[in-house]
This record gives sequence, structure tokens and C-alpha cells, in this order.
Amino acid sequence: MRDPSTAPDDGSGTLFGLDALTPGPSAAPPAGPLFRDSPAARRLLPVREIHAEPAAAASARGRQVLARFPDARVVEVDSHWRIPGLHGNEGNVERWVRIKGETLVLGEKKTLTTRPNGRSADWIAPGASNGCAMACAYCYVPRRKGYANPVTVFTNIDRIIAHLGRHIARQGPKPEPNQCDPEAWVYDVGENGDCSVDALICDNTADLVHAFRQWPTAKASFATKFVNPDLLALDPRGRTRVRFSLMPPDDSRLLDVRTSPVAERIAAAADFLDAGYEVHFNLSPVVVRPGWEEAWTELLRHLDDVLPDRVKRQAAAEVIMLTHNRELHEVNLGWHPRAEEVLWRPDLQQAKRSENGALNVRYRVGVKADAVARVRALVAAHAPWLRIRYAF
Ligand code: SF4
Repeated sequence: MRDPSTAPDDGSGTLFGLDALTPGPSAAPPAGPLFRDSPAARRLLPVREIHAEPAAAASARGRQVLARFPDARVVEVDSHWRIPGLHGNEGNVERWVRIKGETLVLGEKKTLTTRPNGRSADWIAPGASNGCAMACAYCYVPRRKGYANPVTVFTNIDRIIAHLGRHIARQGPKPEPNQCDPEAWVYDVGENGDCSVDALICDNTADLVHAFRQWPTAKASFATKFVNPDLLALDPRGRTRVRFSLMPPDDSRLLDVRTSPVAERIAAAADFLDAGYEVHFNLSPVVVRPGWEEAWTELLRHLDDVLPDRVKRQAAAEVIMLTHNRELHEVNLGWHPRAEEVLWRPDLQQAKRSENGALNVRYRVGVKADAVARVRALVAAHAPWLRIRYAF
């Protein structure tokens, strides 16, 4: 029998509905200018072209996005999927990174499904976006649309939130603690993008944060590589976990294209905690290369030196070893071959064909087990306060 928690949502049985979107008293717009209106944010996302499904463009959220980028050319599309000339890899490799910053897509998420996870989160929520304006060389997010994959904003955020409310209500209280969280059901709301970047574009992330603070049995969670100070004004009341992704700065400069510097992500942790977020870290991806252990040691020492005790007391981490993919390897050779010198290591990796035919690679069993054990030992030695929720 199909698990009712994972069945596509037909909208029946509403317990939490659109009222979850109603901002509470402290959700008033922040005083002062938003970062997303600053010249720095505009440089990050100089949107020139918006591909839009008509219904998405006509929706309230769609209109908000179009109003933010009034000079952008709007191109009507039948579907946010497989837009010719935008998705797919052909001819786009050289322009790939530029497309990510200069192009947006507006669409409606048709199928709303929450999937069980059990590692990073209890559940993977239907995302409010797909795609990312950043361009990490190892990113798996673009795998389904081709690698020139700018942000698609799903404008029917009200339906997504209503779906989540129903799903959360059906679960009832969490029966027992697990490594995801001792009390709350954790919902990953950013599987296919970066919610901090989405908040440069529209209020989808704000709406999710506001919705979760009204659900005492659940918590939102998302990983990010971008420090967006606008999130500090959202008043999450402990119901959203931000996971800052960290890797040694040298790796990050090579691999995390367009993201915030690692030191900036670490420096932001206390501000996010004080603003009401739970702050965890993703030590990921761990890339095995000459000198990797020294580089991680330095990073962990830096964390230990600069993070205040209040951040350390509540922190936890996920450790994720690099996985890669032959198609992505080939795309990267076209625009960022230096990254492939550390990402593509047939001497250390083994391949596995996935269900959709893609050839994925990961570190060989012995290599991976040794590396995971080594990371655990480094954390124990240099950041013993950092509880590892899981490592794989
Ligand atoms: S920030 Fe995340 S979603 Fe964006 S490109 Fe990097 S890994 Fe992918």
C-alpha cells in the first residue's frame, strides 16, 4: 500500500490551510532597506530574461517577481520544464554560469509530494524553487533540467504551504527522538536550490519560515552557501534550521562558484542564531585530494576559535562525502576543468548506474569508510562540541 504521507496531495483534508500564511504580529516588514534591493544583490542577480508560464506570471507571487525586475524581457512558455535553448546542455556550456544569474523561470508546481528521508531530515518537502543562481561544480540540482539551470520560482507557494500543513497535521507529534531532531518532524524545504538565494527574488522563503513557526510539531530545514542578511528579519522562532555548508576555503574557492566565502558563512552563524534560527553545519562535500586532512583540520580549528559558545551548544553537523556524475564531469570539462582535477578521481571512485541511467560515481567503499572515520576523528580532536548527526 502506498504510504499516505508520500502520496501526491489532492488538497483534501485540510487542517492547516492558507491561514498559515498569515503573518504574525512580528512579521512586519523590516525597518530599513532590504539587502535584496542593494546594488550588491543586483550584481549577483542581474535578471534580464524571465520565462514564465502565463498562470504563474498572473499570480500574486509571479507579479511580485516581475515587478522586482521591471527591465527583464518576459518570454511566455507552456511549461517551466524543458525550455528550448535554456535547458539541456547543448550550446550552453560557455554561457552556463551567466545564464544562472541573468535568467529566471516562473512556473507552478503541479505535483505536491512530501517524501520520507530519514538522514538530513525526516521529510523532503516539495520545494518552492528548482535551480540555483550559484554554480557549485559538484551540484546535483541541475541533473534533471540539464546543467544550464537557472532558478525556477514556483509561484503557487500557498498550495505548497497548505500541502505541508496537511502533511504535518497527519503525522501528529513525533513519537520518539531521532538523529534528525529530538522533538520535531524536520522538513527539508530546499532540496533543489538554495533558499537564501531564493529570498533575493521573492518572498517564498519568508512565507515558509513564517508558516513553520506556527507548527509546533515541525521544523523547516535548508542548507545554504549564501549569507542573505534579509533572512535575519524573518523571526523564525526556532522553527527553521539553517545548515551552513562548509568546506576548506581553498576547496570552496575552486568549487563553490558564486557563493559566499566560507569565513562569511561561519561569521554569520551567531547572527542567525540570535535572530531565532537553529544553526547547524553541513561539512560537505568532503573532497579527498592531496592535503585534504590538513585543510579540514584548519577549518575545524577556525570554527572552534571563532564560534561563540551559544552557537556551539546547539550546533550539529552532517558529513557528506563527494558524489559525482559522468555527465556533470563532461559538462564541467567545458567550463571549469580545474575543478575536475579534484572531483573526478577514477583511482579512488567507483561508478554506479542510477535508475534513470545516469552514471554516478562515489568514493570506493574502503576509501569512503577511511575518510569518514578520519573526519569523525578530526571533529573529535578539534571541534569536540560538534555533534555529528550522520556521516555518509
Ligand atoms: S548552492 Fe547548492 S543548489 Fe546552488 S549550485 Fe551550489 S550546491 Fe547547487
